[in-house]
Amino acid sequence: MTFPLRYLVRFGPKQTTHVFTDLLVIGGGIAGLRAALAAPPDVPVLVVTKDKLRLSNSSYAQGGIAAVRSPEDRFENHIEDTLTAGAGLCDRDVVEMVVREAPGHIDELIRYGAHFDAEIGMEGGHSHRRIVHALGDATGWEVMRAIIDRARKAPNVTIWDRTFTIDLLTHEGRCVGALVRRGRRDHLLIWAKQTILASGGAGMVYRETTNPPVATGDGMAAAYRAGAELRDMEFMQFHPTILYVAGSSRYLISEAVRGEGAYLRDKNGVRFMPDEDPRGELATRDVVARAIVRRMEMTRHPNVYLDLSHLNPERVRTHFPGIDKVCREFGLDITTDLIPVRPGAHYMVGGVTVDAQGRTTLPGLWAAGEVSSSGLHGANRLASNSLLEGLVYGAACGRGAAEEAARTPDAFVVPPVQGGFTPATDGPHLDVADLTSSLRSLMVRNMGIVRERAGLVEAERQVAFWCRYVLRREFSTRAGWELQNLLTVARLMIWSAIQRTESRGVHYRADYPERDDEHWTRHVVCPAQLPTPPGLRVGG
Ligand SMILES: Cc1cc2nc3c(=O)[nH]c(=O)nc-3n(C[C@H](O)[C@H](O)[C@H](O)COP(=O)(O)OP(=O)(O)OC[C@H]3O[C@@H](n4cnc5c(N)ncnc54)[C@H](O)[C@@H]3O)c2cc1C
Repeated sequence: MTFPLRYLVRFGPKQTTHVFTDLLVIGGGIAGLRAALAAPPDVPVLVVTKDKLRLSNSSYAQGGIAAVRSPEDRFENHIEDTLTAGAGLCDRDVVEMVVREAPGHIDELIRYGAHFDAEIGMEGGHSHRRIVHALGDATGWEVMRAIIDRARKAPNVTIWDRTFTIDLLTHEGRCVGALVRRGRRDHLLIWAKQTILASGGAGMVYRETTNPPVATGDGMAAAYRAGAELRDMEFMQFHPTILYVAGSSRYLISEAVRGEGAYLRDKNGVRFMPDEDPRGELATRDVVARAIVRRMEMTRHPNVYLDLSHLNPERVRTHFPGIDKVCREFGLDITTDLIPVRPGAHYMVGGVTVDAQGRTTLPGLWAAGEVSSSGLHGANRLASNSLLEGLVYGAACGRGAAEEAARTPDAFVVPPVQGGFTPATDGPHLDVADLTSSLRSLMVRNMGIVRERAGLVEAERQVAFWCRYVLRREFSTRAGWELQNLLTVARLMIWSAIQRTESRGVHYRADYPERDDEHWTRHVVCPAQLPTPPGLRVGG
């Protein structure tokens, strides 16, 4: 079987309802809505989101947005911190552009009606206080409240929530829109002069993740099927500190907690970070996450602990009301108790390759935010740079795509696009939930924070085996399509991790522990067709 198949489902223009728009934006997080708001008022924009509009990584963001706003800070510092975290793979021009545009985007959010806290915060990897935050630790919620409000009032912007994008439509090498399913109704063909992909990340490919359930990498998988270039898929950033209490959702304990001075302790009460890195608890996320994994192995304990008991209790409660509330539900007092934490998948650094304006390699398709790879993050994202990237690239895509759409004539002939393949519909019933959970566990085991060749090769074979029978199916449910997308993204991630025989940024190979600048100061670009791994094992 060729990997990937072009479309997940069969469709034909005759049986499907048609919708026409100038701009189609796939995703209603910070990048998608900022893109929609950048289009001039005479350009019709349709935004689709697969779930409720509020359900996005953007709404979940806690810590804040990085921007140089205090007199003792400088653009050069923010640029250097971003380049240092990116471990040699950032595009300097992109970093400079994003950092310099940051303060203007914060001002704009304030004009949209976002209320930020007066004090500017500190986070790991930043040399200065520059984290603009809201409501203590609910920055994403507040920022999205303001942006959603603004987008709902924009007369040219229509928002369809609960509209699942199954595939991007292409004709003669161009993206011409998307095939979606709206609510429980039939499929729709949305024909767009320009399409902007802002569908977020893929944290759900791991069992332990900070991401909400919508983050299943649909946009990355659909772009890959459509022929757009993806790169750097080996770089998944793990957040070091996720609340680890049986029965709780994997709630993120923000970096800002360590920024305020919290310590990490092992089960014996030992504060271990100062021995690992001179920056202690404020080292970059990859360093902290690996140190935690080592400690968990050394102490044979499933987690480590955050300790805030030496900090001012009143300040702790006012700064972290969300974390305080969640911990209380489990009988934990964050001002006195140790908080059990362990790392989990947090941010997809790689994605669909874009240029400085947000153009992908597929004409007619733009991408912004976590779905994309712009060159800002390199091999590791600096904390609080991603909401910022969503704003900067969202605005650039919205402007650029609107200009491009204005050059396209209105008269539109529906191209003869047809989704056709012979699906295997006669096989046994597939337990989609079981397969999804097996994949997510495999990714933690073999493609987690510490990787090595034997485990990666085993994972590659296993995922290729699952792909062989799952991708030939034609599903009619969101869970089925999500599984197909998760498998596709997992294969690309594992393949990329096998190629990069060095350790850099968030990609750590125990069999190649050193950074190898001579061979690897470059991106790993996913091939248009992935080869079947040799000796593909037949078995569960
Ligand atoms: C818990 C948590 C805390 C974080 N804290 C911070 C922070 O403090 N600072 C920071 O800078 N970053 C933070 N991040 C990262 C940041 O939130 C994300 O990188 C950023 O919000 C991504 O924005 P986005 O617009 O690209 O995607 P998202 O906000 O994830 O939006 C994706 C959108 O795409 C839609 N979508 C997905 N698939 C489909 C489909 N098939 N069809 C239709 N629609 C689809 C979704 O419905 C959603 O509307 C955090 C992330 C998490 C999970």
